[in-house]
Amino acid sequence: MRRTIIITAVAALMCAGAAAQGTNKRSETMDRTEICKKNYTALFGGEALTGQGSDPEMMDILQKFIFGDVFTTGEMDMKMREMVTCVTLASMQTLPQLKAHAGAALNVGVTPEELREAMYLTAPYIGFPRMLNAVGTVNEVLKERGVALPLGREGSLDEKTRGERGQAIRDSLYPGGLAKELSGMPGGMGEDVERFVTEYCFGDIYTRGALDVKTRELLAYCILTAIGAEEQLHPHYHGCLRAGNTPEDVTAAVIQALPYVGFPAALKALMIVKEENAKANGGVPQGLSAFPTGAANDAYAQYFTGRSYLAPLTSDKRLNSPVANVTFEPGCRNNWHSHTGGQILIAVGGRGYYQEKGKPARELLPGDVVEIAPDVVHWHGAAPDSWFSHLAIECNPQSNKNTWLDAVTDEQYREATRKE
Ligand code: MN
Repeated sequence: MRRTIIITAVAALMCAGAAAQGTNKRSETMDRTEICKKNYTALFGGEALTGQGSDPEMMDILQKFIFGDVFTTGEMDMKMREMVTCVTLASMQTLPQLKAHAGAALNVGVTPEELREAMYLTAPYIGFPRMLNAVGTVNEVLKERGVALPLGREGSLDEKTRGERGQAIRDSLYPGGLAKELSGMPGGMGEDVERFVTEYCFGDIYTRGALDVKTRELLAYCILTAIGAEEQLHPHYHGCLRAGNTPEDVTAAVIQALPYVGFPAALKALMIVKEENAKANGGVPQGLSAFPTGAANDAYAQYFTGRSYLAPLTSDKRLNSPVANVTFEPGCRNNWHSHTGGQILIAVGGRGYYQEKGKPARELLPGDVVEIAPDVVHWHGAAPDSWFSHLAIECNPQSNKNTWLDAVTDEQYREATRKE
């Protein structure tokens, strides 16, 4: 009895802590209504879902969706979620909402300097007038909280260095800059525009303090999402990654902006993430395994259904048994085949299958080991809905020969991978 009381008291304390900080993790013990209430209080100080006011039903839909569902999607801390929200609202010029979220941002630990930088960052993308409207709104909040304006200086450029330092950042994010796009402009003025991008956007703005380039690029992606700048979203996806963001970071940031920009604009940005990510690495999910993915497995493509990748992991020919990492896209598998020297497979990422002729298929998960005896006819590959990587160890390589047979038909594959 006493133990129960202590545990309950500890649980209550932990909940109180979560309420102060908000929560961005889904939990099995808290439903979205509870999460919404905690986050709302952490952000705005008041109570969510009060049933009061002129539109209690819409507030119920909106608050549960934003602060319950969206705030627990993807890995992103509360500070970043609120900075994404603020640049999105600034870009859309929804200033009453920006005012509320500027306060929320400060409440969850965004500093006045960070918030100002997030607003200044919008200038190259939405223009000075709209940036100034947003800055004016944020300044109202700062004044109400007794923050002295202007805030301290964050710029560190002079007329001699702005081009150089801007170019260093530009080249790290966008190798080659916009030279190709802007060449051949009437009067040669494309070169001037390129210089403006370098000196003003990446110099004057991106070299400022308070926000690092990684954060700036991620916020820029949200600004571009909010204004539907499709053409810029493509290159800026790669800029985000070069600045150190992951594909998951970019995806989570767009989803954080979704309730404010609406589904069409968010889906457009998400499709570009997907498309550019596929171009960047053949679509192989980051972190599928601890091993490299390697290049498209062109040499063996004729013996595979679907796309696969091959990364040799060893090179010393004096050692027996070369080891390679083989990665299969969902649905990809190799033909029926056998090895005169046998083969060992070690599953390292995703979910896949191994099947010997005449036997049921075996599901493979990371850590599973398959010992394939010489001359046994078999196939291996991914599950229909999952990427898969396994290490392949060639046994008795001096004399080993592969015999490739028919493709595994769609019907054979369906039957083998059917879930009970
Ligand atoms: Mn094999």
